[in-house]
Amino acid sequence: MNKTEILEWLKTDDTDKLQELWQQANEARRTSVGEEVHLRGLIEVSNICARDCGYCGIRVGNRDVCRYRMSADEIMESVQLAVGFGYGTVVLQAGEDYGISREWLCDIIARIKRDTPLAITLSLGEREDEELVAWHQAGADRYLLRFETSNRELYDRIHPPLPGRDSDRFLILRRLRQIGYEVGSGIMVGIPGQSFDDLANDILLFREYDIDMVGIGPYIPHPGTPLGMSQADLQCPPGEQVPGTELMTCKVVALTRILCPLINIPSTTALATINRTEGREHGLSRGANIVMPNLTPKKYRELYEIYPAKASCDENADESNARIKKQICIMGRVIGTGRGDSPNRKNKAA
Ligand code: SAH
Repeated sequence: MNKTEILEWLKTDDTDKLQELWQQANEARRTSVGEEVHLRGLIEVSNICARDCGYCGIRVGNRDVCRYRMSADEIMESVQLAVGFGYGTVVLQAGEDYGISREWLCDIIARIKRDTPLAITLSLGEREDEELVAWHQAGADRYLLRFETSNRELYDRIHPPLPGRDSDRFLILRRLRQIGYEVGSGIMVGIPGQSFDDLANDILLFREYDIDMVGIGPYIPHPGTPLGMSQADLQCPPGEQVPGTELMTCKVVALTRILCPLINIPSTTALATINRTEGREHGLSRGANIVMPNLTPKKYRELYEIYPAKASCDENADESNARIKKQICIMGRVIGTGRGDSPNRKNKAA
């Protein structure tokens, strides 16, 4: 599929025609990665952040956030929940928190590897090269760093670099691959100032960069952020602005599956947030094969407010686990077993 065709899909409102897209994506998903839906236990280890991203509720400039960092023992308790629920992976996610030191995290990674069979995904922002190397050596398997948008001007506007440093997530993505990580990236759909052309480029870049897993979620305005407060001024000219809707997010999921059939694609929490009743299922039936149930202790969950009214904030880990597994089974899909490594990566290694 070329860029013109991608743009046609992104711009169409023809619901009959879209059935073809959903069908094609679902078929690509079925034949390339199968019926299994792999579950990743998400642990939001810290909401402390050095960055001031225009879109994100836990940006350093948001003084209304009560900050926390989980202790090593608390993290291990959440990790044990993942083992108990039969998950294959834990995802340790946080703001860009430099209080998470290289050594501290190496110890935790080593503990998880010693005590459990789990794969470990890190999602900790733009960390130093030597930290990324050390964590991989300690046993971390995957790293998740969304490039958010491939429009450099827009990216710079919403994602200011740390003083005296450049922020080049594409460079880091290449390094992650060299270091030996399975590499995850992704975008937000509907960022004010994001055009259809930008979005088509994003999708093509997933393929060009040979990304192993791609997270796609709608941009959800947060009132405690500059972007959330002044959206209207930043929008593209009429007809060019991508809407941050469920439909648009599903189109990007479907097109990504068709272009990169072997990758892992989560049906994201943000998608489940903008359509609480069916968002998750729609993602799974239009190309996604991963769900990331939240295992963060309830008292911290609501403090990790990257966007408002995040789905599953009102539940504990047991409840999320049971609900999500039931949803998957009702859809006629199978709960994944094993680590659920990206078939895209396995394909390369073979
Ligand atoms: N500090 C890490 C993890 C950030 S949270 C990092 O920067 O990589 C993970 C993802 O949440 C981000 O990559 C971003 O795509 C998404 N996110 C942040 N704010 C959001 C918002 N307001 N709406 C939707 N998604 C958001």
